Amino acid sequence: MNSDNYHARKRFGQNFLHDQNIIQRIVDSINPQNHEYIIEIGPGKGALTFPLLNRVKKLNVIEIDKDLAAKLRTNIEDKNRLIIHEKDALDLDFSIFNHTDLRIVGNLPYNISTPILFHLLKYRECIKDMTFMLQKEVVERICANSGNKKYGRLSIMLQYYCDVESLFNVKPEAFIPIPKIESALVKLIPLSHPRHELLDHECLKIIVRESFSQRRKTIRNALKKYLDESTIINAGIAPENRAENLEVCDFITLANCYHRMKTNIL
Ligand code: SAM
Repeated sequence: MNSDNYHARKRFGQNFLHDQNIIQRIVDSINPQNHEYIIEIGPGKGALTFPLLNRVKKLNVIEIDKDLAAKLRTNIEDKNRLIIHEKDALDLDFSIFNHTDLRIVGNLPYNISTPILFHLLKYRECIKDMTFMLQKEVVERICANSGNKKYGRLSIMLQYYCDVESLFNVKPEAFIPIPKIESALVKLIPLSHPRHELLDHECLKIIVRESFSQRRKTIRNALKKYLDESTIINAGIAPENRAENLEVCDFITLANCYHRMKTNIL
């Protein structure tokens, strides 16, 4: 139990930040400007919320835990400046904010960090940037380049749509309760024009998933059911490559080949 009698709820991935230096570093990394439209996912007890509110006119927060939302409501002096959405961020339609430059931030619950990232990608056109505290391992996977053991589905899907940058690591002791794992802050900036044209997002998902389903397999074998060897060669990709050696643009090429093949057949 914490000093304020609130039991952290495991099912909501609650580890509350209490290290003031880290909180300051996070807020400085976000560098919020007074007029900006900032949305915080999972404000909890307000560790980031209150310092953010000191810097902006209005702040929207999304909190699934009704008790924490109620606590925040009680603790806030200027009720008009903090808009609390008592909702599951995973179900939220971010277009309701009707804004094209959303800045989304949060110390995300570890148990749902990947689904939240994929959910937010759907709204990338109205997002200016996202700054999140995540499990360090997840940040490493997001930012990994080809050839790295951590390079995989998360790296490709996020790097295709965003510029990604790992900002700094955070020790478990910065949180209460202390988690078993290290954390890291990551910044993702959706690209207004992806570097390569993708014909179909679903095809990319399939090609990436299958390519990494068994990392040791060659692309030729991993994609056997989807693309024949000659198509891979004609696309300029050596079929004996393993998924971890292909660049993001190679996956786009393969996904586009698969899309063309499917739509010609249908
Ligand atoms: N921001 C606070 C801090 O740094 O101390 C709390 C961070 S805690 C890791 C995650 C927060 O996200 C909790 O307040 C939790 O209740 C909330 N949360 C968990 N799942 C959520 C969801 N699906 N939608 C919105 N909030 C969620």
